[in-house]
Amino acid sequence: MYFRTRLLPAAAWALAFGALLPRLLADPRAADAVARKPAREVAVTFDDLPGVVAPGEGIEELRSLTEKLVRAIAAEKIPAVGYVNEGKLAPSGAREPERVALLRTWVAAGLELGNHTYSHTDLHRAPLDQFEEDLVRGEETTKTLLSSGHMRLRYFRHPFLHTGRSLETQRALREFLARRGYLVAPVTIDNSDWIFARAYALAKQRGDPPAAGKVARAYVPYMEAKVEYFERQSVRFFSREIRQILLVHANALNADHFRDLARRLRGRGYSFITLERALEDPAYASADTFTGPDGISWLHRWALTSRGQDGILPGEPATPGFVLEAAGLSEE
Ligand SMILES: [Zn+2]
Repeated sequence: MYFRTRLLPAAAWALAFGALLPRLLADPRAADAVARKPAREVAVTFDDLPGVVAPGEGIEELRSLTEKLVRAIAAEKIPAVGYVNEGKLAPSGAREPERVALLRTWVAAGLELGNHTYSHTDLHRAPLDQFEEDLVRGEETTKTLLSSGHMRLRYFRHPFLHTGRSLETQRALREFLARRGYLVAPVTIDNSDWIFARAYALAKQRGDPPAAGKVARAYVPYMEAKVEYFERQSVRFFSREIRQILLVHANALNADHFRDLARRLRGRGYSFITLERALEDPAYASADTFTGPDGISWLHRWALTSRGQDGILPGEPATPGFVLEAAGLSEE
C-alpha cells in the first residue's frame, strides 16, 4: 500500500509529462513559454502608399523603395496592411500606370491595402463633407487591385491619426465608414519614424552616407524604446500586454531597415499577426472620447478617456535632437 501510493504519483507524472512534452514543443507559443519568452503579438501597418520620397525624387525612387520594402515584409512573413493615398498615383492629375503598378506589387505579395483618403486630408482642417468626398475618391484603384487579389477594401486609417475635434464629427464619420463597410484601423505603437525617414532621405539625396548611416543606426533602438514604452502603457491600463498595432511609413528608411526592426521585435517575443486578429482583442472596444488636437496612440486615448492625464505613463521616448535637425525640424 505504502509502496503504491509513493510510486503512483511519480508514474502519473511521467505519463502526463511524456504526453505533454511533444505538444509543448509543437506549439510555438507553448515553446516560447518553455523558453520563458513572453508571447507578444503585433500587427504591422504601413501608411502613405505608394510611398514617401524626398523632394525632387519620383517614380524611380518609389519603385526601388516599393520593391525593397515588399521584399523585406515578405521575407519576414508579416501579414502587413498598407494604407494608400490614391492622389500619389496621379501627381500631375492623371493616374500613372507605373504608379498603380507599385500598389500591384503589394497585392501580388498577398498584402492587403486600406484607404488613407485620396489626398491625405486632415479631418482637423477640412469640413466633414469634404473629408468624406476625399475618402470616397481614394477607393477607386485600391478596390480594383484588391478584388484582383480576392480581397475586399475594409480598413480605413485617419491621416495624421486626426480623428475629429468633436464627438459629433467622430460619430458622423463612424456611421459614414460603417455604411461603406469600413473598419477603423487604430494605432497603439505610435512613433515618429517619418522624421527619421525624412532625415535619412535628405542625407542620402545630398550624398552624405555617414549622416544617413547615423540616422539609420539611431532608428531601430528608438523604435524599440517606443515599443517598450507602449508595452508598459498597456500593462498600466489593461494590466496586460494587448495585441499591439504598429504604424510605420512606406519610405526608403523602412525599405532599408525594416527587417532589422522586425528581427528586434521577434527578439522581444513578438509574433506578427493580421490586423483582423489584433482587433479581436477586447481592448479595442475600450471607451474613447478623445477629441484633442494631436494624432496619438489609442492606448493614450483610452487612458485619457477614463483616467485623464494621470493615465499616461511618463517618459515616452523622444526623437533625438540631431535627427530633428537633420530632418529640418526644430521640434516634434
Ligand atoms: Zn499618413
